[in-house]
Parts: sequence; structure tokens; C-alpha cells
Amino acid sequence: MAERWDAPTVSAGDVLRAEIAAGTEIGEEAARHMDHGRLVPDSVALASIESWLAAHRGAFVFDGFPRTLGQAEALDTLLARRESPLTAVLWLELPTEQIEERVSRRLVCQKCGRSFQVGTQVQSREEACPVCGGELTVRSDDNSAMLANRMEQYREHTQPVMDYYEERGLLRRIDASGTPEEVFARIAAATGTNLHWEVTA
Ligand code: AMP
Repeated sequence: MAERWDAPTVSAGDVLRAEIAAGTEIGEEAARHMDHGRLVPDSVALASIESWLAAHRGAFVFDGFPRTLGQAEALDTLLARRESPLTAVLWLELPTEQIEERVSRRLVCQKCGRSFQVGTQVQSREEACPVCGGELTVRSDDNSAMLANRMEQYREHTQPVMDYYEERGLLRRIDASGTPEEVFARIAAATGTNLHWEVTA
């Protein structure tokens, strides 16, 4: 998506994990919640996203943000100030069993941050990253107990965000089953010419 629309992507989870690795105050606070599969407080999520936005101009793709109504409202204010309102919200839908299955097979590269599925994209857990050669590891919250907490948080806090964007005509529901290529093709079809990136702020 980043390549297609020439727009940098930012994953809120990656930003928070980088804060934890750097030992910042935001990271310490974030870790207290992430270690239990809970969302971090809005103030923490917003602080990390706000500093990322301040350092980037033009179009962008956010991944995993906003995840609460409070974050969605605060993001509207931030983007209005920047004069770059959202053009679309992609809601990737997948049955719980398939989410569990993907999480149980996910490995993440310590060097470039890309994710891979064992069995399809890499053959074993001992392999190096096929893109950069970095070490592939399992995320500390990718286990069934933590996933159950994360799904609970999703139902309670994130599901309502869907209505918020539906009411504003921004929501695009995407069937996230199948291969990455198939999902991307659906995203491209659902957004098509509706996405315009001549943002100048
Ligand atoms: P992810 O990498 O998107 O799966 O996120 C991993 C964890 O980071 C989540 O379980 C939350 O603890 C935290 N996190 C990521 N994004 C947010 C957000 N927008 N708001 C609150 N917590 C978040």
C-alpha cells in the first residue's frame, strides 16, 4: 500500500514497541499495558502518533490507529489542524479462528519489522528474514492467552470506531481472508479512484 500510494505507513504497535526498545517514558508506560494484551491509554497512543505526524508531511497510511473513539476524535482534530482529513478507513475483517491461526504462525523480523507466516512465506522458525536476512522472532503477545485479551479489548474499544467512520462515509470493509496479494487486490478495488493523495500540508 505504501508503494502504491507513495505514502509512508506507520503501525501504532511498531511505534510503541520502538519506544519500549528505546527505554523512553512513553515506552515504559506502554509496556505496562501491552504486556497484558491491553490497549495503552489514549494519551500514550496519541503522543506517539502525534510526534510521528509532526515529522512527516503529505499522505500516510496508519495501521492499528485509531483504536478507540477518543483516539478517532483526537485524530480528527489533529488532521483538521494539518488540513489533511482522512480519505478512507479500511476495516479488515477476518473470522476469529483465522486470526488465531495467523497469529500462531506469525514471525516478525527484528531488523526490518516485516511479518511472515511460517508454512507459506517461510518454511521454518529457524529461517532468516527472506528480505533483509534479519532474525525472525515470535512477538511476545502472540500467544493464545494474550490474544484472547486483545480480542476482548477490540470488541470493547475498537468495534465502536467502525460506526464512527461508517456515519462519516469513510469506511471500506475488506474481506481479509486469502493471500496478501488477494487482500491487496480487494483494497485496491475498494479504494480505487476514491483515494486522492494531493495533500499538501
Ligand atoms: P499491534 O502491533 O497493532 O498488534 O499492537 C500491539 C499492541 O500495542 C496492542 O495490543 C496494544 O497494547 C498496543 N497498541 C497498538 N496500537 C494501539 C492504539 N492505537 N491504541 C492503544 N494501544 C495500542
